[in-house]
Amino acid sequence: MGTQQLHLTPVEQAPSSASYRLQVAEVIDETADARSLVLRVPAELRERFAYKPGQFLSFRVPYAGKLLTRCYSMASSPHCDALPKVTIKRVADGRVSNWMNQQVQAGDWLEVLPPAGHFCLSQSHPSAGEHELVLFGGGSGITPVFSILKSALQTSARRIKLIYANRDEASVIFKAELRQLAKANGERLQVVHVLDSVQGFLTAAEVRQLVRGHAGAEFFICGPGPFMDTVEGALLALGEAPARIHVERFVSPPDPDELLAQEAQARAASLDSACESLSVELDGQRHEIACQPGDTLLQSCKAAGLAVPSSCEEGFCGACMCRVEEGETQLARNDVLSAQELATGWTLACQSRPSSARVQLKFPD
Ligand SMILES: Cc1cc2nc3c(=O)[nH]c(=O)nc-3n(C[C@H](O)[C@H](O)[C@H](O)COP(=O)(O)OP(=O)(O)OC[C@H]3O[C@@H](n4cnc5c(N)ncnc54)[C@H](O)[C@@H]3O)c2cc1C
Repeated sequence: MGTQQLHLTPVEQAPSSASYRLQVAEVIDETADARSLVLRVPAELRERFAYKPGQFLSFRVPYAGKLLTRCYSMASSPHCDALPKVTIKRVADGRVSNWMNQQVQAGDWLEVLPPAGHFCLSQSHPSAGEHELVLFGGGSGITPVFSILKSALQTSARRIKLIYANRDEASVIFKAELRQLAKANGERLQVVHVLDSVQGFLTAAEVRQLVRGHAGAEFFICGPGPFMDTVEGALLALGEAPARIHVERFVSPPDPDELLAQEAQARAASLDSACESLSVELDGQRHEIACQPGDTLLQSCKAAGLAVPSSCEEGFCGACMCRVEEGETQLARNDVLSAQELATGWTLACQSRPSSARVQLKFPD
């Protein structure tokens, strides 16, 4: 599809319920095929748009009569940058990424969901702050990694190694900023560039070589699928703990018509499994609520008036993550939870329906 066929305009209509209109404060051309959008957040939305390094924003973009949702990670750091900034790299024939790169201007208004995501510096284990950080970014996957890198430099004494893979030198996003940071932070920050044009794609043997002497670090990986698979596979084979390996996958959610069809199918499939009792722990309080056949956990919670966290309601942001402590549920779409999280009872309330008579849930504090 050529770019001339795009039918997109910045939002002029009232945004859908969970989203807000934010104005583009600045457009920065980073490389020939990537640009950053700096967003202005009005005072009354600052709390709602507070974010953790590594989180993303979801944009709702009108396209040929549909509203497409696309996530873009924050390249800015809440600890160093006054305004949030996302960086978008063009995907061949991609509908939204090309529009973002070609059409959006400073002063335009965009429809945006609040920050979400779990690809963040870990607070889950007490010694997390002591681990060295080893970051792998490939192409546009540098975006959340860069936010994490800048934040860790600013807020901790952790040593950081960044391995950054790109097609060629001209495609390296944030090249000058990285050079400056490496210079300013001496031995604490090591940046290793890997260029496909020079040495080909990163191999498992090279990953083993690059992480030698960094066993026990906390690892963050974001980039093209094969790049992430190579790095993650190599780390696991070396015996690194899955809990210290964080992975962010950049995918586009299905189009709205496909989502609706999937939703109808999942609802129909769950109509027979009547749940008699749904017990929900939220903010330390337990609630016994009703569940209607076919309703998701989130729909049941909302119908009961519980203010559970949620955002995209399409299974890709992770805002409604909760743990099934008792009973069985069926998860429809999931672009967020890892196999390990699923195995330990995590689910997405917006995509999950009860499949046993009693279900007990807990939302994280
Ligand atoms: C958590 C998260 C964070 C992300 N952060 C970033 C980021 O920081 N920076 C970044 O650049 N990207 C990021 N992404 C990826 C981004 O959200 C989009 O997936 C990407 O920009 C491509 O979107 P698009 O609309 O341009 O492409 P799409 O239109 O979705 O197309 C993707 C591919 O499908 C093909 N396609 C074209 N038309 C159609 C069609 N009608 N139906 C189906 N397929 C079609 C295209 O050929 C293309 O190869 C992130 C994704 C996630 C999930």
